[in-house]
Amino acid sequence: MRIFVSILLLAVAPTGSCLAQEGITAEQYDKYIRFLAADKLEGRFPGTKGNDKAAAYIRKQFKEYGLNRWHTNFYQPFYVKLKKQTNSITRDSVLTNNVIAYLPGNDPLLKDEYIVLGAHYDHLGWGGKGTGSKKPDTLAIHNGAIDNASGTAALLCIAREVSKKKLNKRSIIFIAFSGEEEGLVGSKFFTNHLPVPDTAIKLMSNIDILGCLNAEKQLYMGGAGTFPGGMELLKGLGNGSGLNPIVIAGGVGGSDHVSFYKRNKSVLGFHTGGYPQYHTPEDDIEFVNTAGAVQSCQYIYKALLAIANYNQPIYFIKQD
Ligand SMILES: [Zn+2]
Repeated sequence: MRIFVSILLLAVAPTGSCLAQEGITAEQYDKYIRFLAADKLEGRFPGTKGNDKAAAYIRKQFKEYGLNRWHTNFYQPFYVKLKKQTNSITRDSVLTNNVIAYLPGNDPLLKDEYIVLGAHYDHLGWGGKGTGSKKPDTLAIHNGAIDNASGTAALLCIAREVSKKKLNKRSIIFIAFSGEEEGLVGSKFFTNHLPVPDTAIKLMSNIDILGCLNAEKQLYMGGAGTFPGGMELLKGLGNGSGLNPIVIAGGVGGSDHVSFYKRNKSVLGFHTGGYPQYHTPEDDIEFVNTAGAVQSCQYIYKALLAIANYNQPIYFIKQD
């Protein structure tokens, strides 16, 4: 399966060496996702070394991009309550971290408004009862390559590109959440402990499960109707993207953007649909459609920048 992935990479990589570092590339995406989905991180379960290693890796990238921070070491620590004995942890709750960075906007007025881009980096560890594994009787590393190393790698690629170009008028917050699998715990904690005034957060976009773009190239996004002109903007960005965006006005559910929506924030939730290995030990790197994920990253980068530079006020529109 490794050979298959390599062939895919060759197919999408720019051939001229001088272009190799331009834009969001398959090489960069592949590097990030391979680290995050490796066995040595043991499924990134909160309160374990693997989860801490993933957080440290994300922090290292944020530092390298030259992003700003509010918290010591970019970490926002919080506790997650666990079901007893989950992943051999005997405590009732464990400490884990959201990893948070930001890039100030380049417009003197709009820089006081913030757009959030998030993805959760935690997963199910070794699985077992009480973790959400679909095979609770099998104790094996759940690498969560698609859920959600694929979204975290996208967050990193996009943060890297945004910080290189610095084209954003509004400020952008990049956040890798932990505790998502235990019930959106990290994003709830963040929305209850914001580093900026609540009214300054204009929109949150979330990436959860980006690695399985189908043959029809359908990139799904819910919440496009939660801000003015969102439907038109996101449909329009499909032109020339090579993707078939499925733009939904409501459909806000399933991941960390829900924590923001509940606080009356405009949101967007990006994903590439369901897949057979979801929440099983088989969710591994060989099932990731790298070329499709990179195309999706390029689309999300454009969407994020368009929203950060929106020339009209961004306000919440409730959806049913
Ligand atoms: Zn997920």
